[in-house]
Amino acid sequence: MPKFEKLNLPREGQLITFEEGKPNVPNNPIVPFIRGDGTGVDIWPATQLVLDRAIKKSYGDERKINWFQIFAGDEACEIYGTYNYLPQDTIEAIRHFGVAIKGPLTTPIGGGIRSLNVALRQIFDLYSCVRPCRYYTGTPSPHKNPQNLDIIVYRENTEDIYMGIEWKAGDDNCVDLINHLNNIVIPKSEGLKNRSIPNGSGIGIKPVSKTGSQRHIRKAIEHAKRLSGNKKHVTLVHKGNIMKYTEGAFRDWGYELAINEFRNDCITERESWILDNIQKNPDISIENNAKLIEPGYEKLTNDKKTFICEEVKEVISSIAQSHGDGKWRKLVLVDDRIADSIFQQIQTRPQEYSILATLNLNGDYLSDAAAAIVGGLGMAPGANIGDNAAIFEATHGTAPKHAGLNKINPGSVILSGVMMLEYFGWDEAANLITNGISKAIEQKQVTYDLARLMEPEVKPLSCSSFADAIIANF
Ligand code: NAP
Repeated sequence: MPKFEKLNLPREGQLITFEEGKPNVPNNPIVPFIRGDGTGVDIWPATQLVLDRAIKKSYGDERKINWFQIFAGDEACEIYGTYNYLPQDTIEAIRHFGVAIKGPLTTPIGGGIRSLNVALRQIFDLYSCVRPCRYYTGTPSPHKNPQNLDIIVYRENTEDIYMGIEWKAGDDNCVDLINHLNNIVIPKSEGLKNRSIPNGSGIGIKPVSKTGSQRHIRKAIEHAKRLSGNKKHVTLVHKGNIMKYTEGAFRDWGYELAINEFRNDCITERESWILDNIQKNPDISIENNAKLIEPGYEKLTNDKKTFICEEVKEVISSIAQSHGDGKWRKLVLVDDRIADSIFQQIQTRPQEYSILATLNLNGDYLSDAAAAIVGGLGMAPGANIGDNAAIFEATHGTAPKHAGLNKINPGSVILSGVMMLEYFGWDEAANLITNGISKAIEQKQVTYDLARLMEPEVKPLSCSSFADAIIANF
């Protein structure tokens, strides 16, 4: 047990441990929580009450969370001193206890400190950010059929342009780097010879690794395996048509993982086409089968034609028996979409998607866009998951102008708590809360942000009364 400088450990409770990336959760775990800045003062008490009541109602005295208060953000500076936004106590507590939940945190300005949320993700290697977006009946939405959207965005959390490896235009290192790239690296690179980076550019580096991509996509596929029907579906979202060796590689490594590591559980979209066409045309030759699956086959080079014929042969010989005759429909379907098209598709054909596994920046945009369809950030939960730790968090910020007014919507942190209960395997308590939220919204018992969008507008509940309305519906 680490020695804490200023923290009071709960008297009871046990440690959550991890085995091969999965948590072993005792019936009385100690769970550190960070109340959060700004509206955290309103949101956290409402959240804790809802979680505790749902656990009590579901399991009586058999299960209980022993809450352990730790500090970050402005609150930490009050206790640990100026600029101590992320004290060592907090880092040690999360490292030791493994699972934590947090309200929103101010991004510090000055003192050379970066985003606390990004820092926590990097310190604990929380490589997958998981953001479910589903609709609760009655929530005001700008969309005509928001109920059709029920997706989970899996955003890679540790790589991509978010690593913050960048140089300002005109900075000496930036100028050196541009000269090195223009004079040495680009001329030596096949296919780049006529290009050059304009002088005066700023430079940002976008690293995307095979290990980083595959461990993230692995989590997404494992999640899809637990779903049913057409929700057993992972879409790799990328901009590989433009960024071939980063975003395109993410897609290729995703397919490679699906085929090599999840062969009995997965089928790719292309393999499913091949099998379905073969099923319909059992007697035709490999070349004719290849023509069926590849529009414009006749115009391809001989190399490409050979490649496609080999692909068809390989699919038939390796999985026609096990996955053919439509058996693949019970497996996880893995396909891919270009990032810009998926923004359209979640609006126009949302019911066709389930888990969207993507890179860091795409995932940031995509999860907010999806949250907007189902009612906005007040209802959008999030979790950051690694192999040895997980932090559940609000997706919105501290909304300082609403702080301390008992007004804000606690839905995002409450639903993040639901994700934590599901992560524990405490599904009864999790379901109780999601049903309670659904019913409260159907009864138009909502906070100001949703009340003002309802037609006709309804009288809003306070933050704490919304929590009470959820509990009353258990
Ligand atoms: P914000 O705190 O998310 O608030 C922007 C607006 O979003 C609010 O004024 C409010 O709109 C609405 N909103 C936020 N939380 C809501 C909730 N729980 N229920 C209903 N509506 C909610 O964004 P910001 O003002 O740009 O950022 C403030 C601080 O938070 C900054 O320091 C920022 O860096 C930080 N931040 C932290 C996180 C995090 O901890 N995960 C995320 C983002 C930003 P109306 O006033 O129109 O109702």
